Amino acid sequence: DHLTDPDAIAPERAAEAALRPRRLDEFVGQQVVRDQLSLVLDAATARGRTPEHVLLSGPPGLGKTTLAMIIAAELAAPLRITSGPAVQHAGDLAAILSSLDEGEVLFIDEVHRLARPAEEMLYIAMEDFRVDVVVGKGVGATAIPLDLPPFTVVGATTRAGLLPAPLRDRFGFVGHLDYYGPKELQEVVRRSALRLEVDLEAEAAAEIASRSRGTPRIANRLLRRVRDWAQVRGTGALDLEAAREALRVYEVDKRGLDRLDRAVLSALCTRFAGGPVGLSTLAVAVGEETETVETMVEPYLVREGFLIRTPRGRTAATAAWTHLGLAPPEAETG
Ligand code: ATP
Repeated sequence: DHLTDPDAIAPERAAEAALRPRRLDEFVGQQVVRDQLSLVLDAATARGRTPEHVLLSGPPGLGKTTLAMIIAAELAAPLRITSGPAVQHAGDLAAILSSLDEGEVLFIDEVHRLARPAEEMLYIAMEDFRVDVVVGKGVGATAIPLDLPPFTVVGATTRAGLLPAPLRDRFGFVGHLDYYGPKELQEVVRRSALRLEVDLEAEAAAEIASRSRGTPRIANRLLRRVRDWAQVRGTGALDLEAAREALRVYEVDKRGLDRLDRAVLSALCTRFAGGPVGLSTLAVAVGEETETVETMVEPYLVREGFLIRTPRGRTAATAAWTHLGLAPPEAETG
């Protein structure tokens, strides 16, 4: 069920780490961001300064963490990794900031989820390279300003718009990552296959790419499942048959839709006559949480033109009917 979830699930972290490109020139696609970033990094290196703070925005699984690691590698700088939800108290952030080495890269994933006091501390640190360390408790507490060595924050967020303006303004460079095209995803899986030391046929790479929802994380995950199939049920070759059969076993269809995606579309078309229907009603009909449908199912269906959000509820687009092999109602086609 998690096969097409763009978020990483815990057990796959190690498998993912093994497939991460290490340098900017191994990073596939995102040409614009790559060019801009390479300029920022080269200019900083030429001046012997730490680069400006970098904000990376874009949907999950497109390579924000990977880019943060690459930035540190390109600068030959140490990397510290944390995340908005992991920093519960401003004190946690103060401890991290005050222990940074000169030039260190501090990666903060989900930076939009920092608690307000930590967020304020962060933007002061980013601007003035200073942190106020609070000593003592209650009325006796005093704030001792501590100078920090220059460092670079790399923040990642799924939506730059969620970031409060004072924090967003402290990032000198904002890069937006977009979904990958099929050719780029083929290149991602081709490189991953090299790393995994398996022979991936070009047709199989294309098949995997076309079902990966524009997301390298999903492409790599499907590749691993195809490898499983090839080893256990197939001839060992990662060919078109292995790709098709493995993805059939895992119920990922030609457009990258999984069982739940299709269940939602099918409920919308058959039980609710194409809508409009409220999101929570739709979720109940497929036996899922509203949030699951809203965050995991709906965005892709909307992006691919299967589902339309209207003020009165969700409606099925003509493409939804055709994809399910159903005849769209007259009004829909007209
Ligand atoms: P999240 O925000 O959910 O953590 P992310 O955007 O940080 O996601 P990463 O963890 O960097 O995504 O990438 C997910 C996987 O996809 C990694 O295994 C990485 O190797 C691969 N990947 C991402 N982008 C690229 C790319 N441009 N070229 C090759 N592989 C990539």
